[in-house]
Amino acid sequence: MVSKKDIESTNPLKVAEKQVDIAAEKMNLDPGMVAKLKSRQQEIIVQFPVKMDDGTIRIFTGYRVQHNDIRGPYKGGIRYHPDVSLDEVRALAMWMTWKSAVVNIPFGGAKGGVICNPKEMSDGEIERMTRRFTWQISPMIGPERDIPAPDVYTNPQVMSWIMDTYSIMKGYAVPAVVTGKPLELGGSVGRLEATGKGVFITAREAAKHIGMPIEGARVAIQGSGNVGGIAAQHFQKAGAKVIAISDSKGGIFNPNGLDLDQVIACKRNYHCFIGEKLRSEEITNQELLELDCDILVPAALESQITEKNADRIKAKIIVEGANGPTTPIADEILYDKGIFVVPDILANAGGVTVSYFEWVQNLQNLLWSEDEISEKLTSILTKSFADVLNISEKEKVNMRTAALMLGIGRVAEATRIRGFYP
Ligand code: GLU
Repeated sequence: MVSKKDIESTNPLKVAEKQVDIAAEKMNLDPGMVAKLKSRQQEIIVQFPVKMDDGTIRIFTGYRVQHNDIRGPYKGGIRYHPDVSLDEVRALAMWMTWKSAVVNIPFGGAKGGVICNPKEMSDGEIERMTRRFTWQISPMIGPERDIPAPDVYTNPQVMSWIMDTYSIMKGYAVPAVVTGKPLELGGSVGRLEATGKGVFITAREAAKHIGMPIEGARVAIQGSGNVGGIAAQHFQKAGAKVIAISDSKGGIFNPNGLDLDQVIACKRNYHCFIGEKLRSEEITNQELLELDCDILVPAALESQITEKNADRIKAKIIVEGANGPTTPIADEILYDKGIFVVPDILANAGGVTVSYFEWVQNLQNLLWSEDEISEKLTSILTKSFADVLNISEKEKVNMRTAALMLGIGRVAEATRIRGFYP
């Protein structure tokens, strides 16, 4: 239980640790095991110079945190964002461990990040920063050790530079060192869409569970990147009405539904959403969360739904495309209000699931078809959803704690079986 008297921290690591405490208590886990599960196996902080286009040298700070590799190689994205911090990367690494375990793929959890603002950098600067960061973390990564992937503001091009830099250092091509690569370099069909598609698949399962038709459902999406943008298209294809969407600057709202083609074109042409052009009202990211809607998809950053605004959320279902968007006290408020939350480690697990497919294809020099990928992804996510729902009903806990009990339980059991060296 979270005491509402606690002054709630929105530090992602504190949030992640609190979540573990709540699940561990329900599971009666040994305190030594809990300490082991919360701890990180390795972390590296690097500072490195990059020559900028104007000839100046800038020093960047980057992190790679390897939380746990008990069930398989470390796995997790690399984030480029001005607000990246060590505690954020630590939390994201821990969530990767539970996420891989919830969908039962043989990976552990890691995360990386570089403090930077890629929106203010040229492609050349981003490339040089990526290559130097890759070189600095190269002793820690590798197809059998730790496999990075895209995250906030990184993309297939950045993965290509990581793959190229690592391959040059080795002296031969090593496609399996990263996932989320372009198809031309051994990327997998369906990887780019996988996280957004997974958000839709788990939302569909949640809607089925509460008896709400997806057709006609009003969906509000915070974020319009690789997760929110793709999810929006899936919702629309299924007959839902996307009534609001946003980017880092703000959002737009039309209660009758947005025309997504126009929304995408506006973003492409003007790099933002313009209410007047899209026959919609301009709203803030905070206002978007509190809209009267059926499904809310936070698909941006952490700590968006907190004790401060949880009470005002009107959605019936929340599907967490982002990692860590909801704090523990907010979780309790939402649960009391009867809002059904599909937690991040289940809702956005489509990305790492298809990353796993990509890695397997790379290691075997095989190419799977789009149908194979789609079928396997859908079957893994629907089964995982059912597993989590089952625990939630049996143990009378919310979906987050149920997902954590499943994920943490698998990691704890693997730890017990492997034993402690020496
Ligand atoms: N960055 C994504 C996530 O948070 C994908 C990680 C991966 O594919 O390794 O789940």
